[in-house]
Amino acid sequence: MENTNEMQVIFDSRSSNESFARVTVASFMTALNPTVEEVSDVKTAVSEAVTNAIIHGYESEIHNISIRCRTEGQTLYLEVRDEGKGIEDIKQAMEPLYTSKPELERSGMGFSFMEAFMDKLEVESSPGMGTVVKMEKTIGKGRRLWTAQSL
Ligand code: ATP
Ligand code: MG
Repeated sequence: MENTNEMQVIFDSRSSNESFARVTVASFMTALNPTVEEVSDVKTAVSEAVTNAIIHGYESEIHNISIRCRTEGQTLYLEVRDEGKGIEDIKQAMEPLYTSKPELERSGMGFSFMEAFMDKLEVESSPGMGTVVKMEKTIGKGRRLWTAQSL
C-alpha cells in the first residue's frame, strides 16, 4: 500500500532505554509533520508503556521489549510488547489511580495518560504470557486547512 511506513525495534528492559524508545518513535513519526505537542503526547505514551513493561511486566529483570510502529496516511499505530508476567484483570488495571505497586510510589495514572494523549488505546494481556499495548493517533487533526477557497 502507498503512503505506509513501518518499523520495529527490540531493546533490553533497562530504564536507561526509556529515552531511546521515546526518541526513536518521535523520530519515526516526523514524516507525518507533527506539531511539538503531538510529538510530546506520543513520547509520553511511549514512556508510560515502556516503564510499565520494565517495572510491572519484567519486575526489573532484563528481557526484551519490542515496539512496532506503522503509519498509514496521517495515522500512527504503535505497539509496545513485553513477554513478562501479564495482567490478570485488565479492566481494573486501566482504571485511573489503580496501581499494584503503591509501595513504589506509582500513582496508577499510566494507562490514563496513554488514553488521554492518544486517540485509541487497547490492551491485550494474559498472565504468564505478557502484554501488548496498542495505541493509535492521527496527526494533524487539529490543524486548520487553508485552501484557496477559504481565503
Ligand atoms: P504509574 O504509571 O502512574 O507510575 P502504574 O504503573 O501502577 O503507576 P498504570 O501504568 O496505569 O499505573 O498501570 C496500572 C497497573 O496495570 C499497574 O500497577 C500494573 O499492575 C498493571 N500493568 C500495567 N502494565 C503492565 C505490564 N506491561 N505488565 C504487567 N502489568 C502491567
Ligand atoms: Mg505505569
